[in-house]
Amino acid sequence: MNEIGVVIRGESCSFDASMSVPLLNLAEHNRPYQDRMREAFDRFLASGHYIGGDQVTLFEKEVASYLGVSECVAVSSGTDALLLALMALDVGPGDEVICPSFTFFATAGVVHRLGAKPVFAEILEGSFNMDPEDIEHRITPRTKGIIPVHLFGQMADIARIQAIADKHGLFVLEDAAQAIGARHNGKHAGSFGAFGAFSFYPTKNLSGLGDSGLVSTNDPKLAAKARILRVHGMDPVYYHSHVGGNFRFDPIQGALLRIKLPDLDASIGLRQERAARYVSRLGSHPSVALSCEEAAGKKLILPETSPGNAHTFNQFTIRVRGEGARDRLVAQLKAAGIGHGIYYPLGLHQQECFRCHTGGAVSLPITEAACREVLSIPIVPEIKLEQIDEVCDRIIGFLDGGSAA
Ligand SMILES: *Cc1c(COP(=O)(O)O)cnc(C)c1O
Repeated sequence: MNEIGVVIRGESCSFDASMSVPLLNLAEHNRPYQDRMREAFDRFLASGHYIGGDQVTLFEKEVASYLGVSECVAVSSGTDALLLALMALDVGPGDEVICPSFTFFATAGVVHRLGAKPVFAEILEGSFNMDPEDIEHRITPRTKGIIPVHLFGQMADIARIQAIADKHGLFVLEDAAQAIGARHNGKHAGSFGAFGAFSFYPTKNLSGLGDSGLVSTNDPKLAAKARILRVHGMDPVYYHSHVGGNFRFDPIQGALLRIKLPDLDASIGLRQERAARYVSRLGSHPSVALSCEEAAGKKLILPETSPGNAHTFNQFTIRVRGEGARDRLVAQLKAAGIGHGIYYPLGLHQQECFRCHTGGAVSLPITEAACREVLSIPIVPEIKLEQIDEVCDRIIGFLDGGSAA
């Protein structure tokens, strides 16, 4: 196989040039920017300044203005954005932080790395996002904060989560790694909590050419602390008030991301258009439900958008119901050269490395059902609407019981 592009975290959703509908095609995505990117690189190379500088501070200012927050601090990755935020919020041994289990590993990994305990909360069936009621049940005297994840590109119920946090004196750190540009009642993901954490990993909606990330905040004290922690807690040079790390953001990523940022909303619009196409093509099929509430007797459930939310469709994630049904559909999509991803096959509460926190005794049935049923199908702006139709035809073939191979 002629593998090109990236192998995403070693998962089986890489693509090759012969696929009829790839899950993503980053070279194609960056093609319209290539001339400006080459110029930016030439300027960068000639500048002789390879750490810090204008491209970092301008990128931070432009993202802050896009999000409607007072300050942003750009860092080395989305994971480091979460880690740095927790460090700035003084999370350490003895603390508990409530987060979902149905998320990418980094959300809880950073809590563990600081010696604190991730406490896994259940999700809501319809949105895949944290259930505020379940969060409240898990609060103890040791709870220090909550990390809601805005999964797949739509925001968790941030108003209720923030209200619970305020009532109990907890911080909210929004894991917005998959949700740049997502809004709730017109207000951006990352502009609600003490911090928002973003990733520009190549599969995210604003995608860099490598790793980088950013924290957003409206609190000038937290922003100042984050800036110090980004360089080993150093202020002034060689005097260390805190133990931080090297979480610096490469100026070349800043230069490249600044070229793409003005197109972000248009590119989200293309994702929304593709999502609408799936809904119009699949939604009328008798075996398809438009929401979990109508799921009785259906084989497939389309993703829901919660009230007040603008969904940015970083992923278009359907649920395939019935014993072994998802695997059978995956096999048919594979045979047809259609890309797919399973985010996520196993909850974090079931991961071996977190047995120290769960004792293997935590059960989250809604999360576990999602892990068995979810399937993400192609949604990126680079694929054509006709290709979406092709995916729909295969899925309809599967639902009608025929072989789509
Ligand atoms: C991608 C992602 C991260 C980590 O971002 P990186 O830039 O890959 O370190 C954290 N949380 C979630 C929910 C993510 O999807």
